[in-house]
Amino acid sequence: MSHHREASRSNGHHQLTIGVLALQGAYDAHARTLTSLGAPPRLIRLPHELDGLDGLIMPGGESTTMLKFLDRNGFFSILQAFVKTTPTFGTCAGAILLATGVESPAQRSLAALDITVERNAYGRQIDSTILTAETALPGGPLEMVFIRAPRITHTGPAVETLATRDGYATLVRSGHLMAATFHPELSHDHRVHQLFLDLVRQHPAHNSSTK
Ligand code: GLN
Repeated sequence: MSHHREASRSNGHHQLTIGVLALQGAYDAHARTLTSLGAPPRLIRLPHELDGLDGLIMPGGESTTMLKFLDRNGFFSILQAFVKTTPTFGTCAGAILLATGVESPAQRSLAALDITVERNAYGRQIDSTILTAETALPGGPLEMVFIRAPRITHTGPAVETLATRDGYATLVRSGHLMAATFHPELSHDHRVHQLFLDLVRQHPAHNSSTK
């Protein structure tokens, strides 16, 4: 077991290539956060730019608009195949794209992560808010910035909940996939992005490709 640990640690100095889906929305702030963590990303606007990525972040924004862009050039089905096997982290609209179930209103999705989301669940009055709360992450309370956020109303049996708001999951992980209903890229605390980079490093495909 300790041998295994060492093997994965020695891969740590391999430069990760993370993509940030840059069709629309809050991709710039994700790019800045990844750069400050030593993993300057590739901005992804075309399907072939996914080739060779170790992981992908799908940002917040407007999921309906992102779907329109994804429908243009076969991007939707290529992205759907990509997220089945490659570590992907969806935040807010990106989480809506990853979910197996999307409600209020219902919408097509990549259907990769076993969660159901209710869009714009917090209504107009309190649609944007900042919460600071304890989570499963070590290091104390985490700031969570919600902007017209969806609510995760159901998580499948294999989905691990790492943070909550009012009893509903706000940060989840399942195998090679992660989703947050808040915007970790808008906080100075980079623990959530670090968690994703750790997940990418531990992913079997990444480890075998660096041997
Ligand atoms: N309400 C948006 C949607 O349905 C998500 C909001 C966000 O990403 N900040 O796509």
